[in-house]
Amino acid sequence: MKREDIRYLKGIGPKRQKLLNRLGIYTVKDLLYYFPSRYEDRRNIRKIKELRENDVALVVAKVLARNLRPLKFRAPFRGGIKNTIFEVAVEDDTGVLMCVWFNQGYLNDYIKVGDDIVIYGKVRRYKKRLQMVSPEFDIIDKNDKSSSGVGKIVSFYRLTEGVTQKMIRGVIKFSLDNFARKIEDPLPYHIRESSNLPNIYYSLRNIHFPDSLDSVAISRRRFIFEELFFSQVLVYLRKAQYRLKRSIPFIDKDGFIPQFKKSLPFLLTSSQEQVIKEIVDDLTKPYPMHRLLQGDVGSGKTVVASFAIALAVINNCQVAFMVPTEVLVHQHVTTLRELFRGFGFRIKSLTSSLTRREKEKVYSDLSNSQIDIVVGTHALIEEEVGFSRLGLVVIDEQHKFGVAQRALLPKKAKDYIPHCLVMSATPIPRSLALSLYGDLDFSVIKELPPGRKQPKTIWVEEDKREWVYNFLREKLNEGRQAYIVYPVIDEANTSDLRSLTEMYEVTEKRLSGFKVGVFHGRMKSGEKKKVICEFRENKINVLISTTVIEVGVNIENATVMVVENPERFGLAQLHQLRGRIRRSVYEPYFILISKPNIGDNARRRLKIITKTTDGFKISEEDLKLRGPGDFFGSLQWGFPQLRIASPMKDLALLREARRVAYDLIKRDPFLREPYNRCIREHIDFWLRRR
Ligand code: ADP
Ligand code: MG
Repeated sequence: MKREDIRYLKGIGPKRQKLLNRLGIYTVKDLLYYFPSRYEDRRNIRKIKELRENDVALVVAKVLARNLRPLKFRAPFRGGIKNTIFEVAVEDDTGVLMCVWFNQGYLNDYIKVGDDIVIYGKVRRYKKRLQMVSPEFDIIDKNDKSSSGVGKIVSFYRLTEGVTQKMIRGVIKFSLDNFARKIEDPLPYHIRESSNLPNIYYSLRNIHFPDSLDSVAISRRRFIFEELFFSQVLVYLRKAQYRLKRSIPFIDKDGFIPQFKKSLPFLLTSSQEQVIKEIVDDLTKPYPMHRLLQGDVGSGKTVVASFAIALAVINNCQVAFMVPTEVLVHQHVTTLRELFRGFGFRIKSLTSSLTRREKEKVYSDLSNSQIDIVVGTHALIEEEVGFSRLGLVVIDEQHKFGVAQRALLPKKAKDYIPHCLVMSATPIPRSLALSLYGDLDFSVIKELPPGRKQPKTIWVEEDKREWVYNFLREKLNEGRQAYIVYPVIDEANTSDLRSLTEMYEVTEKRLSGFKVGVFHGRMKSGEKKKVICEFRENKINVLISTTVIEVGVNIENATVMVVENPERFGLAQLHQLRGRIRRSVYEPYFILISKPNIGDNARRRLKIITKTTDGFKISEEDLKLRGPGDFFGSLQWGFPQLRIASPMKDLALLREARRVAYDLIKRDPFLREPYNRCIREHIDFWLRRR
């Protein structure tokens, strides 16, 4: 079946077409691949008389009476909110059941006395009577009783405003009846056979309109496999394609690397040595490196990157080093200048806070080969930026950039593809990394430089604040410095920032005799620089900051970090924050001051962070707590989002899909064999689904 636009479907005019487009549905195939998000088993209808408290039940009944009224409730804020309660009494041949909905007055237009209705929900007790609160419901169409799904397993779809379950079920049903048989199975027979998967027609029918719960499971398994399989086919195809692209091979001229190694103020860890070898090896190839360097906070990724950077420069290439914040730009520039002292490399920074004039100077210097290394923020991907000979792209803290942003920088090279090194301090389990980062190769720094101390993590509730401040004062008296991190979630929100300022005033009083400073993302660039500089020189003893401090800032004497409301932070973020304070010879302390009544999930997070310091373990726990969707959303690397598969839960299937994809591409690297044509054709469809 070719791409058939949904507008040719019966019952779909321009208006519905637009609505469906909003759900990402453009073609009949998109529609058929728009899978239900959940199912309801409506085969078991319960009688009202038999309902017991806490049952989750399906009832078919008639609407007896309904009533919409305001709720007596004094809202805690000015003006209050209009609260309503909508009560509906329904009846079957055994009794009456009350249903209530809060603040959904519009239901008054939907549910009418005399309607036949399907109700699904949990039975609760309220003042001795049984009722359902905000149950799901469907009005049974008098002309089409079968549409209610009573007696069937009913699928539910993710909707957008203006689209109803009924409508989407209708168009899917129509497409299934008229087109599904014409769809070519994207999985060839030999793969279905060996992995024990049903064909496309059976699977489409049963994922949308299942005969049994088993057939749902079988069909879902097929589509999960299919999704993982195609993601892996893409991985291997892209890898094969990279090999065909041209980039500039870097040669270690005149034994530069050993010389550079010798010039370092410390010995590399063996882990660093290992990954440097992997990277340098890649760089000698005439096709682009595409490597992810993972290493816990403080494991020394920058110095590893500096080997690649240096190699690029001595091979007459330019390097673009992109980092997420301005503070980091300046820090990296300082670090690189230090590391490359005496080598004569020309290093410049580029951030949006430069004046127009300054920027233009950088632009022209870059295109006239007057700069070897440019370190910058997003400003690097602006259109005006051009290079004369960009040979290497380094992206630090890559999870802070969107997929599109990350992809833009390498495109700035001219006749060839630059080598690309991305760095991340968010470690993910290897098997998952393989599937999610797909076409990247991996290097992992497994150890920290010697002498690093794991911070002592102490979690207290607010009533211990006095103790915390006494402790702080003690450490400050010993000459150490401290961060106090405050959870300003939205730095654009002025009232959030105001509370940061209040925090500052209170702290200044509490820690009289010490100099307290403030740092946040909305400060002017000059101010930021000044504050960080003063903190570095210990002219500021305590820095109150938002989480902008989280990324890579490196100040050795700051050994205490107090985090206010840590329950509002994610695990990865807490781990990153903690990484800021283990760089010194002094004992570091990480102190969390939480509210007393925090949720279960937050409590678990704080427990984990208190107990473990291993970044990989923390990420795994994070994955479990947050669920993969959320976690991976920010990690995806240029691949279509997985919709039905979840790499964490479907790990076994992922392994199998990976193996099958590998065998396939090994045997037929460009998918030219006629029996693999169906795979090739499905890839277009798959790629469109970003
Ligand atoms: P991250 O991996 O978090 O980016 P950095 O590259 O910022 O870590 O390194 C953290 C600190 O460790 C820096 O001050 C760096 O100079 C230092 N460092 C890196 N490698 C070593 C090493 N092998 N021995 C001692 N110190 C090191
Ligand atoms: Mg770093």
